[in-house]
Amino acid sequence: MNTAKLITKAYFFGALSISFTHIITSAHKMGGEGYEPYIAPFMVDGVALLGMHMRNEKYDDRTNKIGLWAQSTAGLLSLAMNVHAAHSLFGMLLGIGVVVLFLVTEWMAGNIRLRTDSEAARNAAANAAAIADAEAAVAAANAWLSACTHPTTCSSAGQCETKRNAAAKRAKTTKRNARKAAAEKRVLEGMMN
Ligand SMILES: [Zn+2]
Repeated sequence: MNTAKLITKAYFFGALSISFTHIITSAHKMGGEGYEPYIAPFMVDGVALLGMHMRNEKYDDRTNKIGLWAQSTAGLLSLAMNVHAAHSLFGMLLGIGVVVLFLVTEWMAGNIRLRTDSEAARNAAANAAAIADAEAAVAAANAWLSACTHPTTCSSAGQCETKRNAAAKRAKTTKRNARKAAAEKRVLEGMMN
């Protein structure tokens, strides 16, 4: 993990732990007793985290949608409890700030890319294009080979064409000779009748 990502993650977990504390305070203020206030952050921020994870691009659209719904709902509740925990204007702003920081750092962490990552991707794309071009050139150069039907496969496009032309010429001559013979036959038959 690179430094920028590490610091962003540290801020993310920092904001999360402050939000946890605020939610526990809010639960106390509402009259939560004993263990009760300590469950609240898991039911609020915990669900927001779960929703956040379900929005990951590796999951399908429906999962992403449910994740967004869970994160938005739990996030709004978290915001309300963070503000409710405050005893002053600054406390309220801190509560809002913590939730904003939580969302922003999560977005930032997902958008930190090393320059080499994009360079590697660009190089891979360029290589793929070059390979495709080369393959197309080879396929075009070998097109005559797949069209060659000669008993002995030709060794070049030129040889194949020469053979094809010669065969066409032979076929033409044969046809012409057949026509000539037929005409001569008709003349002879005419003379005999
Ligand atoms: Zn041939």
